[in-house]
Amino acid sequence: MVLARSRHLDASDPIDFDAFAATLSGRLLRPGDAEYDSARLTQNRAYNRYPAAIVKAADASDVARAVSLARDARLDLAVRSGGHSVAGHSTADDALMLDLSGMKGLHIDPVRRLVWAQPGLTAGEVTNALAEHGLAIPFGDTSSVGIAGLTLGGGIGYLVRKYGLAVDNLVSVELVTADGRLLIASERQNQELFWALRGGGGNFGVATRFVYRAQPVSTVFGGAIFLPGTRDVLESIMPLAEAAPEELSVIAFVMHAPPAPFIPADRVGGLSVMLTFVYAGDPARGEAVVAPFRALAEPIADLAGPMPYPGIYAFTEEGAKAEPFVVRSAFLDGLDERVVDTIIEYMSRATTPGAMVQLRGLGGAMARVPAGATAFGHRSARVLFAVITVFEGPAEPHVAWTEALFDAVRPLARGVYSNFLGSEGEGRIREAYPAETFERLAEVKRRYDPSNLFRLNQNIVPAR
Ligand SMILES: Cc1cc2nc3c(=O)[nH]c(=O)nc-3n(C[C@H](O)[C@H](O)[C@H](O)COP(=O)(O)OP(=O)(O)OC[C@H]3O[C@@H](n4cnc5c(N)ncnc54)[C@H](O)[C@@H]3O)c2cc1C
Repeated sequence: MVLARSRHLDASDPIDFDAFAATLSGRLLRPGDAEYDSARLTQNRAYNRYPAAIVKAADASDVARAVSLARDARLDLAVRSGGHSVAGHSTADDALMLDLSGMKGLHIDPVRRLVWAQPGLTAGEVTNALAEHGLAIPFGDTSSVGIAGLTLGGGIGYLVRKYGLAVDNLVSVELVTADGRLLIASERQNQELFWALRGGGGNFGVATRFVYRAQPVSTVFGGAIFLPGTRDVLESIMPLAEAAPEELSVIAFVMHAPPAPFIPADRVGGLSVMLTFVYAGDPARGEAVVAPFRALAEPIADLAGPMPYPGIYAFTEEGAKAEPFVVRSAFLDGLDERVVDTIIEYMSRATTPGAMVQLRGLGGAMARVPAGATAFGHRSARVLFAVITVFEGPAEPHVAWTEALFDAVRPLARGVYSNFLGSEGEGRIREAYPAETFERLAEVKRRYDPSNLFRLNQNIVPAR
């Protein structure tokens, strides 16, 4: 039975979705199905899109079938794992949405510290399971983010200075390529593809399994300290973070203090810095290392202490709700007074209480990997700067404010993290990679996806 037609097909070339559904171990959702509406939405609610059909994949064979259908029927293919694409790339109008969120197989070998993980797992799910073995993989700051999109872009989190990026702990990737083949990419097999997968995003195929080497992490000294958002505090945080031992990784959120039970009523709404951090070493030493941050000003609230590593996710839960948001970001060489003044000036006239500036201190293990060793090449970046604006209602004023703040800082920026890019055009995608890395990625793309089937992403156009 003919159920739908892609806008790319002419009337003589219909798609029989019923017949296709019968080939799947998983399920196919169509408009009108009970679960279709919840499945089509992703975390960034700025994108409200209607795919032609959604494949709820059960295994790699389903993935191969979906890839082949999209290729042969010339449907746009949107790949969704954790659904946290900042740019809304994992859902698209009229597309085939390949939803891997049900593929949550996980196997841990605690002796060899090896982890086999399917792409539907979230960072929190893997982190919680690993914590039982005193292990961790360096994912990001938020529990609900998918390991797949995060890893393929690089993966920057609270262990970045101690253990590097997620990709620095990746052993191999199993993936379905545009021609429907299932390949393994590692240091020994398909090496060039493995290089590209460590930072090149979803450009080369659909990852169906990741193998990581986990690191020893158990009780950490971590949490959040709310400080007043003054010039002095803002100017001091990144130099302190850089001078600290590599066990410490910090993420500072410059924001209006939220109406939370731990914030004194008279400080709610005032400009503050939520300094979140993990010291992945002896907690007593961690407390001493963090003391200079605590001494920057009288804290508005102090929620730091020894905790199991997954406890750090509690501090970003509120900010990770499914809501509309816009992000503009870049790497900076530091946080000089011009950046600090710009942040304070713009935050004082933010269009919404959901506006914030995120600052991540980098360096350490991330910086020791040579720039050309993986597709993630901005190894010497010192600060990751991001304006993140969560809003309600029409996007326009909030997008304008976000872009104005970003544009004011941009002359000082050098490169961008692909996983923090919105839909900002080809020029910005090029900024995510050193020039020679970008050329090399385009070559790998030509080899594995010459027709650019995997284009709903931070797209690298195949080399001619
Ligand atoms: C609240 C929030 C917090 C974040 N925090 C961090 C952080 O601390 N550190 C960090 O590094 N990043 C962070 N990110 C960015 C995040 O890493 C990216 O948005 C990432 O792409 C999300 O992965 P996902 O699987 O959840 O997303 P999805 O929306 O499912 O996928 C995003 C894109 O990744 C590709 N992709 C996904 N799965 C596959 C697959 N199986 N095979 C091939 N390609 C695939 C596709 O191109 C897809 O469009 C954060 C994002 C949000 C929204």
